[in-house]
Amino acid sequence: MNFEDLIRDVYQKIKNIDDKGEMASYIPELSKVNPKNFGVHISTIKKVNFGMGNYNGKFSIQSITKVLSLILAYRIVGDEIWDRVGVEPSGTAFNSLVQLEADKGIPRNPFLNAGAIVVSDILLSNLKNPKEDFIDFVRSISNNKALEYSNKIAQSEKDVGYRNVALCNFIKSFGKIENEPSDVLDFYFDLCSLEMSCKELSELFLFLANNGLGVHNNKSILSESQSKRINALMQTCGFYDESGEFAFKVGLPGKSGVGGGIIAIHPNQYAIAVWSPKLNKKGNSHKGMKFLEEFTTRSELSIF
Ligand code: GLN
Repeated sequence: MNFEDLIRDVYQKIKNIDDKGEMASYIPELSKVNPKNFGVHISTIKKVNFGMGNYNGKFSIQSITKVLSLILAYRIVGDEIWDRVGVEPSGTAFNSLVQLEADKGIPRNPFLNAGAIVVSDILLSNLKNPKEDFIDFVRSISNNKALEYSNKIAQSEKDVGYRNVALCNFIKSFGKIENEPSDVLDFYFDLCSLEMSCKELSELFLFLANNGLGVHNNKSILSESQSKRINALMQTCGFYDESGEFAFKVGLPGKSGVGGGIIAIHPNQYAIAVWSPKLNKKGNSHKGMKFLEEFTTRSELSIF
């Protein structure tokens, strides 16, 4: 498979489609990003690294960070994590409150805001310096010291994060948050503000295509079974109430963020990152989804 040629072709085709999405204006700082940005980068196990468009431009990875916080918490507390957060697709929007009442403060999965807030709480209880320890962990995965949070984005979300405040307090009312909600939320907003380029994202996530082993150093980040489980969760829950659609059209485990980024994994093959800021109604990158659909269709490679 010549991934370079394929990416070149698909990029040219998708670049000019009508970009029907909307910017994530509910976080004011995100609406300042140029909507025309479009980048893609692939990193393969066989060491192909190739990008098109603005693949070096940094953007706010937002909910993609939920995969990284889950992985760190999973490493620390192991399977106990599944007592606090489920592994079922919710069929609801990323910021939904509705199921928490019936489920008594146990979020359906770790990629909903509710689930990621619980994971943030677990990390707060287990890390000495949560903000520094988390970024150190993320930097260590791909040996990339250039990764940083954005204080501007975190503050912008904090100023208007009323739904997340509601979610965290609601879960706390069931006794399922250990720390002070304001501390949990500050940490959650910091995690979501992490900035990366498509190139950095695909390099960082490549270990999930490599059974949990770092590709640059062969060090274990997750066990084989844990890595399989993270991919399974990305497959079933990574796109909220559009997870079925993503599996149907793209056929790979993946995760989106409201900054317009998507990371997708082909186990034993590659990690691919796409960025285009305009989002569809489900909060997933419109062009990013189209790119990946065309890419896996044309490559005739998916996990199915
Ligand atoms: N920080 C965002 C929020 O909590 C993350 C949502 C997303 O990327 N889907 O609303």
